[in-house]
Amino acid sequence: MTGPAGTNWAGNHTFRAVRLEHPASTEELADVVARERRVRALGSRHSFTDLADTDGVLVSLERMPADVVVDDERRTVTVAAATRYGELAVELHRSGWALSALASLPHISVAGAVATGTHGSGDAVGSLAASVRELELVGADGAVRSVRRGDPDFDGSVVGLGALGVVTRLTLDVEPDFAVRQDVFRGLSLDRVRDGFDELSAAAYSVSLFTDWTSGLADAWLKSRSTEPPAPPEGTSAATGPVHMLAGADPAAVTQQLGVVGAWHERLPHFRIDHTPSRGAELQSEYLLPRAGVGEAVEGLRGLAARMAPLLQVCEIRTVAADDLWLSSSHGRDVAAFHFTWVLDPAAVAALLPRVEDVLLPLGGRPHWGKCFAAGPADLAPLYPRWGDFAALREQVDPERVFGNAWLDRVLGG
Ligand SMILES: Cc1cc2nc3c(=O)[nH]c(=O)nc-3n(C[C@H](O)[C@H](O)[C@H](O)COP(=O)(O)OP(=O)(O)OC[C@H]3O[C@@H](n4cnc5c(N)ncnc54)[C@H](O)[C@@H]3O)c2cc1C
Repeated sequence: MTGPAGTNWAGNHTFRAVRLEHPASTEELADVVARERRVRALGSRHSFTDLADTDGVLVSLERMPADVVVDDERRTVTVAAATRYGELAVELHRSGWALSALASLPHISVAGAVATGTHGSGDAVGSLAASVRELELVGADGAVRSVRRGDPDFDGSVVGLGALGVVTRLTLDVEPDFAVRQDVFRGLSLDRVRDGFDELSAAAYSVSLFTDWTSGLADAWLKSRSTEPPAPPEGTSAATGPVHMLAGADPAAVTQQLGVVGAWHERLPHFRIDHTPSRGAELQSEYLLPRAGVGEAVEGLRGLAARMAPLLQVCEIRTVAADDLWLSSSHGRDVAAFHFTWVLDPAAVAALLPRVEDVLLPLGGRPHWGKCFAAGPADLAPLYPRWGDFAALREQVDPERVFGNAWLDRVLGG
């Protein structure tokens, strides 16, 4: 660890905060926020930029007890902000409940994932943020307030980028516990992805396609809420052993495949909680665009394959259902998400991203807030119908920019 607050998970950003504090209660947190000129909340450090950083004090809520409270009548769970999805999922499964979606890794904090619009995959599956029903947060004046679904500011507050306050507890929708099987099919042609994406993404509850763009082929990971085997996508054959999406990586790190039916939380994520997710040495980017643009995006990225090859570990294509959250990358539209796992070479990746964005931004691609992108406010504002409303909400709840930082200045602009 370098500096008082260390680095992010990928190690490509060293936090500049002057201090990292660990309040153990909402009262202790409220004292820090009321006292300090600048504060930012730190989750589990899995975003790839200076997004969480501050020139003031970082607060980690990891010492606050998870205090998981399930309400069977309302079908909700309420949990402390720093709780990791993996920990929450075990508790839910034990009491007969489930979340509709999980990201590829269960290691991330609930509040950090929600603040950036983190998602899994599925035509009918919303982002992790879309399941939020209520937030409790400490505002810029140190006062605790709650925002509930249906309140005027709710849709602006959920994907909040840490700019509206420090979230202390979240209430999420739950559904009855369900079983999942995961099957991997190999040899899917990229022509088929271009011309028949809707059929492919509808082949299971949650579908992920992985390609490096150079081979002309993809793998299809199908997560089904059925005990019956899914039909293999045309031209593919079922994997005969467990598959990691990254060449040369140990398949022991991925969740159970080969059609073995079992618990939702041990199959919806790609990675097991007791292993390093993905490669570890990497950067990531992702752009979420209206589904009608998939064919053009596939052709555009195939055209960039040789340029991307030295830097690209793998690309993943997923889907996310529309929601109403103002800064959500699926706000108002069903989307296809094009994710890139790059090698850990920040300068080279930064130089390449404008070329990737030349392909994906004109198709309406919105960057994942927690990953690397080059676009600035002039590119981003037209992509979000409620951009101005978010700026107004921020002005109302944090006029002194207690929760401001360099990332927000750069990305949201004045
Ligand atoms: C290996 C790997 C795989 C990934 N897979 C996926 C994936 O499948 N899908 C996907 O969408 N994303 C994915 N991501 C991205 C990841 O989900 C996001 O970066 C997410 O924000 C990480 O959450 P965190 O808790 O680490 O947040 P941090 O990086 O710690 O913080 C992110 C933001 O959340 C804010 N925040 C954190 N806690 C609070 C709080 N209590 N109150 C207010 N704001 C808060 C921070 O201030 C900051 O702005 C992946 C990342 C990695 C490293």
